[in-house]
Amino acid sequence: QPLKLRIRDFNPHIVCSLCAGYYIDATTITECLHTFCKSCIVKYLQCNKCCPQCTTKIHETQPFLNLKPDRVLQDIVYKLVPGLYESEEKRKQEFFKSRGLIPEKKLDDDAEAPSLTSVYDDPKSHYYCHDEQVCLCLESYG
Ligand SMILES: [Zn+2]
Ligand SMILES: [Zn+2]
Repeated sequence: QPLKLRIRDFNPHIVCSLCAGYYIDATTITECLHTFCKSCIVKYLQCNKCCPQCTTKIHETQPFLNLKPDRVLQDIVYKLVPGLYESEEKRKQEFFKSRGLIPEKKLDDDAEAPSLTSVYDDPKSHYYCHDEQVCLCLESYG
């Protein structure tokens, strides 16, 4: 008998405490492992030096060095929340259109750019179907 859980039971693990929405481009602070949306934490760190959740001090001069994209968590969020990926993609397209921009494919010439941007911008790396089957196994270590 499969165990049935509601999405809201997962909310504490997949909701950003800065914007109260589901993670978009989940980004984790390497010092304390708290996670936020990329845009939320980048904006926050422009005028703060600590983690918004636990006030752990982040790198004094280059706080972005202590941020890491959390692809696995973002995959889980997109697969758990119906329609989130599609609506986020639509929002991006509309953002570009409203500014008369064409979303450009990232090429290798920005290879030296921090991985924070390139990891999420590869269009081939993410594709989610609304009816995708997800199998998740959680194991406890002590
Ligand atoms: Zn957020
Ligand atoms: Zn923290």
